[in-house]
Amino acid sequence: MGVSKLKLPKICEHCGKAFEAKTVNTRFCSDACNNASLRLRKKQALVEKPKQIDPSRPI
Ligand SMILES: [Zn+2]
Repeated sequence: MGVSKLKLPKICEHCGKAFEAKTVNTRFCSDACNNASLRLRKKQALVEKPKQIDPSRPI
């Protein structure tokens, strides 16, 4: 089972673009979208209280 060689059709959670994910955990079409989304989340985390921790987020 080579999970690292998967090609999964996905929709980027940031820009909505269709792309092929390399892993089941991939949620964005590019590092740019990944970073942009993380930045947005950090901003929101600063505004709101961090009451919810995303379990899918790598430590
Ligand atoms: Zn994207």
